Amino acid sequence: MTRLYNWGRTLCAHGPVLRPATPAEAANALQRHRHVTPRGAGRSFGDAAIPNRGGTMLTERLTDAQPMEFDASSGILRANAALPQHAILSNTCPEGWLLPAIPGSRYITLGGMIAADAHGKNHSQTGSIGKYTRSLRVLVADGDLVDCSPEQHPDLFWATIGGLGLTGLVVDVELQLEPLPAGRVVSELVGFGSTDELIEVVEARHRATDFVLGWADGRFSPGRPFAGAVAFGHWRPDLAPPGPLPPFRSLRLPFSNPLPGAGWMAATLLNAVLRRKFRDGRHETADVESFFFPQDRIRNWNIAFGRRGFLEVQCCFPLEHAAAALRDIHGFLCETRTLCSLVALKRFGPGLPDAPLSFPFEGYSIALDMPVRGRIPEALNELDEIIVQHGGRVNPVKDSRLPAERFEQMYPDLERWREVKRGWDPNNVWQSALSRRLHLTE
Ligand SMILES: Cc1cc2nc3c(=O)[nH]c(=O)nc-3n(C[C@H](O)[C@H](O)[C@H](O)COP(=O)(O)OP(=O)(O)OC[C@H]3O[C@@H](n4cnc5c(N)ncnc54)[C@H](O)[C@@H]3O)c2cc1C
Repeated sequence: MTRLYNWGRTLCAHGPVLRPATPAEAANALQRHRHVTPRGAGRSFGDAAIPNRGGTMLTERLTDAQPMEFDASSGILRANAALPQHAILSNTCPEGWLLPAIPGSRYITLGGMIAADAHGKNHSQTGSIGKYTRSLRVLVADGDLVDCSPEQHPDLFWATIGGLGLTGLVVDVELQLEPLPAGRVVSELVGFGSTDELIEVVEARHRATDFVLGWADGRFSPGRPFAGAVAFGHWRPDLAPPGPLPPFRSLRLPFSNPLPGAGWMAATLLNAVLRRKFRDGRHETADVESFFFPQDRIRNWNIAFGRRGFLEVQCCFPLEHAAAALRDIHGFLCETRTLCSLVALKRFGPGLPDAPLSFPFEGYSIALDMPVRGRIPEALNELDEIIVQHGGRVNPVKDSRLPAERFEQMYPDLERWREVKRGWDPNNVWQSALSRRLHLTE
């Protein structure tokens, strides 16, 4: 029995942990456990990698099986899904190739990225990881290894992209990488003082930019404006050509903050640091990993929030609703005097309509990290209502509290996904605390 936490540290599960070293061992383990949850690096904020009942299949030892094959002339990568992003980037960047969608932690595994259809700060230009996935090898519920792609078993392929680990264990992934243009990114920061101004600034510039990431001050109270800055990032080959990645240095917090106000302290400190970083008119130059993974400088920053942990709600809205939705969310946050440790804003491009559970679609995304304090979890029901009213949806891989009926309203293709799940996994072998909460498995 091992204790397993979610990244937000609001949940803790005890249960058997399976550590197969080969796909054959993983298939054998399926015969001994009626219900299994795949788990990569455990960096999902909510309950996606928390078991319901039954075992948790950790993928870490699967990297011993064939790690990766990479063709540097075409940029086609076939990689073990248990590999973390940094292991892939350290091999492909020196050859001039980059993962096309990079979520913000270098420790996240390829399998976790597929299960979340992960996006990066460049979604408006490139889209999510599913768009670049050529094929997957999936260990399905009956113990078979199935190769799937948009041509072969397309139902399984598209249900697995963004499928939250519920169609099977992704063992191998074949991806088309993108050329790496440079070894440095320069970000130019442009301030905003309201939700309308944010949208104005982003719409005026995002097409001519490689990356867009906005930040807003997370100390909300009545009358306080929605203020912050947008970082527009550009590759700069003139500063450094593509090449090997410099060493990435990080710290580890020695223990979780034991004080009762740990969440408040962490959020106040983070807002102070980010206010300095996101200043109008500032320019910042960073190498590849420093640009993509600033949070990893403190490898286990999640324990700074203390015993009660933190929640993240990330939601996105269609373009035509974005201004009104952000205004209403700002109103809600001020009224409830919510303290966010991080408010991150992104501009999304077109989504992947073939993948029924893929989260991103064209419009705006806002992610709110909130230390658990007072009645925050209950107050968020009101936020769900605002999201639905504006045609938005919540990112399930970051969530642990959305009710099933709200999820149904947000993902209109859910029934199509359920049909595929029933076909490949009629006994719900693959399940999780999330799948129980959202009624994706019985
Ligand atoms: C600091 C930080 C920044 C982040 N930034 C972004 C971002 O910018 N964009 C974004 O999209 N996401 C982002 N995320 C979220 C992250 O991409 C997802 O939660 C991702 O799923 C985590 O991968 P993991 O390896 O930690 O998987 P886990 O947390 O272990 O699992 C997550 C889900 O993947 C499933 N899973 C894991 N491995 C496999 C496998 N081999 N086969 C099948 N299913 C599997 C699990 O069952 C679970 O449903 C961020 C997370 C953190 C901590």
